Amino acid sequence: MRIDLHTHSSVSDGTESPAQLLATAQAAGLGVVALTDHDTTAGWALAEAARPAGLTVVPGMELSCRWFPPDGTRPVSVHLLAYLFDPADPGFAAERLRLRDERLGRAERIVHALAADGHPVSWPEILQARNGGVVGRPHVARALVEAGAVESVDQAFATLLHHTSPYYVAKADTDVLAGISLVRRAGGVPVFAHGLATKRGRVVGDDAIAAMAQAGLLGLEVDHPDHRPDERAHLRGLAADLDLFMTGSSDYHGANKETAIGAELTAPEEFERLLAAGTGAAPYAD
Ligand code: AMP
Ligand code: FE
Ligand code: FE
Ligand code: ZN
Repeated sequence: MRIDLHTHSSVSDGTESPAQLLATAQAAGLGVVALTDHDTTAGWALAEAARPAGLTVVPGMELSCRWFPPDGTRPVSVHLLAYLFDPADPGFAAERLRLRDERLGRAERIVHALAADGHPVSWPEILQARNGGVVGRPHVARALVEAGAVESVDQAFATLLHHTSPYYVAKADTDVLAGISLVRRAGGVPVFAHGLATKRGRVVGDDAIAAMAQAGLLGLEVDHPDHRPDERAHLRGLAADLDLFMTGSSDYHGANKETAIGAELTAPEEFERLLAAGTGAAPYAD
């Protein structure tokens, strides 16, 4: 059974609609796929309605979070995958709404700053491109590519949209320990996404992962395209020490990234542990 537990649709910053994404998953021979758009569950109903027979769909999300080091040093951006939570849980729903609002204001500031310096992007164009979905830097990156200002989405992220760029604006993401509590209280299963991907920037230490486990974290995403072999090995050791299950996933974003769906997979016995812990929603299955 091929199981991929981390994908994005056009409801956030992927390029395929949930229906197209499920068709892609099935064509790639997956038996299980999780839909984990950033900070929204808007794709869940679309995925449930479009699910092809034989494919199990796990409703999920990727929550934008920050780890605040106890020594008061700068917070570290972390992503928390959440599966099988109750989408109607009021506390968690309110926090998602706050994050989406935060994303909108922040993207507008990035775009206005770029445009003021003559870079070919406009806010109405970005709003149109997001098509009602959750906005992210990939939308701005694509607009810069289409206007010929950069050669690729990757180049946009390496230059104008990099977190060290003068145009970069941070978001007020959720404290990850609070995020873990919100997910658990909604009956969901929290998994630390691409936790040691130094390729993406600063990462947290073992102390943070231990604190997250203490707060109710249940799994670690070990096999991810952005993890080197040594980073995977370190996470495997932590999962054993902290009694967390391990996942492997592609973090598919359609044409916004090079990675193919199913490029990394989760072992069936690890998936069983995830399923057993989720009580807020059920997978969509035959
Ligand atoms: P944001 O959430 O707006 O801060 O943007 C970060 C998103 O951009 C994440 O979902 C990443 O998956 C995506 N991303 C980061 N770096 C790249 C890259 N080089 N190419 C494409 N997407 C990227
Ligand atoms: Fe993304
Ligand atoms: Fe992520
Ligand atoms: Zn992701």
